[in-house]
Amino acid sequence: CRRWAKAIEILKELEEKCATPTWKLKLVADAMNVEMHAGLASEGGSKLKMLITYVDKLPTGNEEGLYYALDLGGTNFRVLRVQLGGKYGGIISQEFTEVSIPPNLMVGTSDELFDYIAAELAKFVAQENQDFQVSPGRQRELGFTFSFPVMQTSLASGNLVKWTKGFNIDGTVGQDVVAELTKAIRRQGLDMRVNALVNDTVGTLAGGRYTNSNVIAAIILGTGTNAAYVERVQAIPKWHGPLPDSGDMAINMEWGNFRSSHLPLTEYDCALDAESFSPGDQIFEKMTSGLYLGEIVRRVLCKIAEEAFFFADNVPPKLKIPFILSTPDMCAMHHDSSTDLNVVGSKLKNILEISDTSLEVRKVVVEICNIIATRGARLSAAGILGILKKLGKDTKSEVEGQKNVIAMDGGLYEHYTEYSKCLENTLKELVGEDISESIIIEHFNDGSGVGAALLAASHSQYL
Ligand code: ADP
Ligand code: MG
Repeated sequence: CRRWAKAIEILKELEEKCATPTWKLKLVADAMNVEMHAGLASEGGSKLKMLITYVDKLPTGNEEGLYYALDLGGTNFRVLRVQLGGKYGGIISQEFTEVSIPPNLMVGTSDELFDYIAAELAKFVAQENQDFQVSPGRQRELGFTFSFPVMQTSLASGNLVKWTKGFNIDGTVGQDVVAELTKAIRRQGLDMRVNALVNDTVGTLAGGRYTNSNVIAAIILGTGTNAAYVERVQAIPKWHGPLPDSGDMAINMEWGNFRSSHLPLTEYDCALDAESFSPGDQIFEKMTSGLYLGEIVRRVLCKIAEEAFFFADNVPPKLKIPFILSTPDMCAMHHDSSTDLNVVGSKLKNILEISDTSLEVRKVVVEICNIIATRGARLSAAGILGILKKLGKDTKSEVEGQKNVIAMDGGLYEHYTEYSKCLENTLKELVGEDISESIIIEHFNDGSGVGAALLAASHSQYL
């Protein structure tokens, strides 16, 4: 019938607009490489901030002692305690608690947010076992993983550039987030020093390098997305500080803000962006990461409901509610392997109050999830190729058998297997059979928190 034909037409158009043929991904990777150069050349030289992290040495494995980490990511935050055994000792013990951030705190005041975090940290310390007492006169030391763009002024200080991922708190932008956290820790009466401020990508890079010395870059695919990698200081024209002994500097790319005319943007992306807190910003992130994928799918469903009366004679009211369809729900529908797609059926019913859907309708829903997830995964792979190009690792290595490891983390990568499989296959497709043997993608679960604790250890005041 006519309704069905219209629905298929919208679907076909979506497929065309979201297409990511190899040649296009290579243009995206080239553009990423160009922007990386520009961002390293001068402050504000590119949409890619290419932030200097002051991390000029990554963990070696010799780190020793008791350290803490606080990981503020987006949806949740974690408090960790890590006991490091020094050379050959490795990580002796590791404990954490995870707390979700109440949505009202994401849009409240700076003090409320930091007080909440510091209170959880104080609780964690108060509940710990006698074995974890620090020696008298010694302060506890912490690495602070803060996954928002920060302009660092030293390893342990930095000013917030902007909030992302749905956070929108007045008065924090431009402030030193370590100072804010330290004040809140004092208000809790806790004696703890913040040794290092690290982005989650840098934490993952550090945690990854600790266990695998071939790690060259880290990518986070969670609520948002970002990447960090090890650059040679000589290749950073905007760095005017002293030359570190290592000759290296970890760079926090803030690649979520990447944008290029080669990105396959659709009307759905443009509308999502226009209605977001930060129109024009984080375009790459809005096409690839967990906060947004489900929302893009919802927007497509809304369009076929409106223009093709896809579900009924009227648009299901729930479908009009922004962000009602989360990426984990989208993922569950996409992964539905039952013959009658009953997971899709129940998600549509329970979340969107659309009942009695036919198998044909459910198949279309899965296809939309597939199109949006595939585009995101393939663009992420193109971003990785951009980094490999910048490092000259996309061509045959002079050193035979040299491995280059990309440390991956984030809930999207971890749980959305159709997405992660597609990303890995696309990277193989992009670099070719030969090179792909030297590029290894490795999942480091919770690398970011452990990495921050490791950096707190290597920058201890007691060394
Ligand atoms: P953050 O990025 O906030 O530090 P995580 O790395 O834990 O947090 O990622 C959480 C995000 O991962 C969620 O916002 C969601 O978008 C995505 N995610 C979590 N579970 C799933 C899932 N089962 N399927 C798809 N995406 C998921
Ligand atoms: Mg995180």
